[in-house]
Amino acid sequence: MHEYAVTQSMVRTAVEEANKANASKILEIRLVIGDLSTIIDDSVQMYFDIMSEGTIAQGAKLIFKRVKAEFKCKDCGEVFIKPPKGFDCPKCGGLGTPTDIGKEFYIESIEIE
Ligand SMILES: [Zn+2]
Repeated sequence: MHEYAVTQSMVRTAVEEANKANASKILEIRLVIGDLSTIIDDSVQMYFDIMSEGTIAQGAKLIFKRVKAEFKCKDCGEVFIKPPKGFDCPKCGGLGTPTDIGKEFYIESIEIE
C-alpha cells in the first residue's frame, strides 16, 4: 500500500507541473527510486494506470531510475555502495549504516506536449 500514496502524490505533482507549462499531455515521467525505499516499480505502474485515467498524464510512459544504496562505516567513515549481502565496510569490516542515498523517490523530469 506504500506505493499507493507515493504514486498519488507523484501523479498530482506531474499534472501540476504540466499545467503550469500549459501542456496538453504528459508523454513521459522519469522517476528516481532509491534501492532502500522498498518501492516496487510494477506497483507504481499499476496505481499510475488507474490514477492517471482521465488526466493529462494518462498514457504517459514511466521510466524508473534506480539509485544504489550508500552506506557509511561507523568505524572508519568510509562511504560505500551496499554489498549484495550484509552491510560490512569493504575497508575495515566495520558495520555500515544507511545514508540518505538510496531512500529517494522523486520525479527527475517530465516530458510534455
Ligand atoms: Zn570501515
